[in-house]
Amino acid sequence: MVLEIIILVIAILLILAAFIIMRTYVFIHKASEDAGSDLPGVELTPIKVDKDLAARHLSEAIQIETISHEDPAENVAENFEKLHKLLEKNYPHLHKALKREIVGQASLLYTWEGKDASLDPVLLAAHQDVVPAEESSLSQWSYPPFSGKIAEGYIWGRGTLDIKSQLISLMEAVEQLVINDYKPERTVLLGFGSDEEVLGIGAKSIVALLQKRGVHLAGMIDEGGCIYDGIIPGVKGLAGAIGVAEKGYLSLKVFVDDHAGHSSTPADSNATSILIRALNKIVNNPFPAKVSMVVPMFEKLGAAATPIMQVAFGNLWLFGGIIKKTLLASGEAAATIRTTTAVTILKGGVKDNILPGHAEAVVNFRLLPGESIAYVCESLRKLIADDRVKFEPLHGNAWEASPVSPTTSMAYRHIASVTREFFPGAPCAPYIMLGGSDARNYYAICENVYRFSPYAMTTDDLSRIHGVNERLKVDAFAVMVDYFYRLIARWSQKEM
Ligand SMILES: [Zn+2]
Repeated sequence: MVLEIIILVIAILLILAAFIIMRTYVFIHKASEDAGSDLPGVELTPIKVDKDLAARHLSEAIQIETISHEDPAENVAENFEKLHKLLEKNYPHLHKALKREIVGQASLLYTWEGKDASLDPVLLAAHQDVVPAEESSLSQWSYPPFSGKIAEGYIWGRGTLDIKSQLISLMEAVEQLVINDYKPERTVLLGFGSDEEVLGIGAKSIVALLQKRGVHLAGMIDEGGCIYDGIIPGVKGLAGAIGVAEKGYLSLKVFVDDHAGHSSTPADSNATSILIRALNKIVNNPFPAKVSMVVPMFEKLGAAATPIMQVAFGNLWLFGGIIKKTLLASGEAAATIRTTTAVTILKGGVKDNILPGHAEAVVNFRLLPGESIAYVCESLRKLIADDRVKFEPLHGNAWEASPVSPTTSMAYRHIASVTREFFPGAPCAPYIMLGGSDARNYYAICENVYRFSPYAMTTDDLSRIHGVNERLKVDAFAVMVDYFYRLIARWSQKEM
């Protein structure tokens, strides 16, 4: 009898092991089907990137301090004008072939008419503005943040990674296409907002203008993902992360109004204690984590994943719980799979012996695609279940998570396909961007919205964005130029 049970258990374990292996095999096999690998390139005069000249052009753009401010009145308009003049000077052929419009305060829209006006245009975007360099960190910079110094094989300064490199490489690419007498089949638009870093309205006004003209885009690309070098947990080597969505944003004022009183005779409940109880509930009851959000990404990265990850993602039915725990252990990964909650402001009281009649907090939420602002508010109302606690979105500081762009569109497949030309062997995968970008505005006129910059990024590089010693390799910048040269040619074909 005992022997029979042992045999039965062994048999069940063997069947289970076989099933896990089979599922892993199917997973790896599926992952190796690269998006766009069947797409032919276009016939195109190859570009000869003068990498030193291109680097100098980027350096010149870095030297102009196009810092954006929450209050647009603080922006130095002259600096944006200087940048516009610089573009005119460095890209004369482009400025002859394309129409340029200044939209709103300082945003730019370039139009390169295609041969066939009946085709939907494509749009390539970047933002002109940068964040300032913190006064206290200036001494830590190897070269001043707005020097645009070219040294040690890098271009140094604010905007090299975020994201003048994209803006200038797009200009370089189009300039070369025009020089090489390339004629786009469909209209190519370049859209450069001027206030992305302060969540401004530059890109929004470009979209509004296009909308007014009845434009619908076949595809658009902006900053967002890039080629991650050892950054994605469980993935070896280079992997292209193409942003297909971004999280929503909600800053909610949570407040309580109650009778003020003397602190020597506190009532059971008063404004501060009611607020504290409410915040406690909010902080201790995070929104549910959804592993399903990263499944499409790991499905595509399967080939480059470590064997353990391959087994785990191939068998979510068994290892879903462990994966969830692993992802929740890292702040970045956790933010990818849930709507996050962060109490960012606390206010209440003016004197140590007075119970304030009003107490308030601001809670910042970053919403997963599929979880609306209404859903978050309703969940909180149910969770707190106290009518004395009121909610109010901070004015202007809220938008829904974006839709999720498809990975089956020609636009996406071309991005993946050109990426493979420059980074052979690197799998491309869709991912959800945690921060915000101008791209979210474009869903109003486009379903195929992507976020990608064709440079490789290590964890070290990541810390330089908005940080100290932001820099980009001269060679990597030359690749960006060539990348967009090829991508624009592909995207502007009739069949796209
Ligand atoms: Zn940016």
